[in-house]
Amino acid sequence: MHSGAVTAALSGIEEMLEIAGVSQMISVGNLGVWRASDYRDGSRLREYRSIDWYLARGRQTGRRGQLNASTITFDLMEEPWRRQEHHYDVILLESDIYNGGNTNFVLGVGTQASSAIISRHRLSRRYLPELPEDELIECYKTAVMHEVGHMLGLPGRFGTRGHLEESLGMHCTNTCLMRQRLRLEGWEELTADRLRRGSLCIECRREIVNFFQDMLPDGHFEPMESSEASFRPVGDDQFIPIGRR
Ligand SMILES: [Zn+2]
Ligand SMILES: [Zn+2]
Repeated sequence: MHSGAVTAALSGIEEMLEIAGVSQMISVGNLGVWRASDYRDGSRLREYRSIDWYLARGRQTGRRGQLNASTITFDLMEEPWRRQEHHYDVILLESDIYNGGNTNFVLGVGTQASSAIISRHRLSRRYLPELPEDELIECYKTAVMHEVGHMLGLPGRFGTRGHLEESLGMHCTNTCLMRQRLRLEGWEELTADRLRRGSLCIECRREIVNFFQDMLPDGHFEPMESSEASFRPVGDDQFIPIGRR
């Protein structure tokens, strides 16, 4: 993946952890194109041992040219070491993805207390030809922060706040990057607002702080349903674990 996009994604993740007040407690590592040394058994990919295996599963259950992000999300939830060491997985993809349902595509999928998967495929010159590369990267950063926001319980986890809408998952309606946008052009708007007025609204800020304060002593939450970023009518992919320091 474009190194500028990876750098932007990492800084987006760090920014979310900073807002949550946990950047000193949680470390972010970049595994790059992750492959354990024993990831192959002859020509077979060993289960849970490489990004290749996760993506192959998404491809097998996907459709032409698109990975099924729900399969990858499920595999990340089921990975054997999830119970041994609490962590979050963020996967940055060049490949196009959809949610396994009746969407044309999604930019990303964020699952509470577990994972975020974000594709750069649609945030490219091919689909947004008028945007320069640096603005496309800022849009990708917005999408990463949005899915990481879902991963960290945003928005409306407690059902005690306003300014929410149910639109393919719960979303914020304030000036905030947790708003839903069903068209790619909407992500330009969210990005412009993020750069001009900040990332999260006051209600989402409060919630993301509470997310970590409400964590169980073993660092776990019960996984909940996923939310998807953007809907409308495979390259070198990155794998970023976020663990407890
Ligand atoms: Zn908000
Ligand atoms: Zn969303």
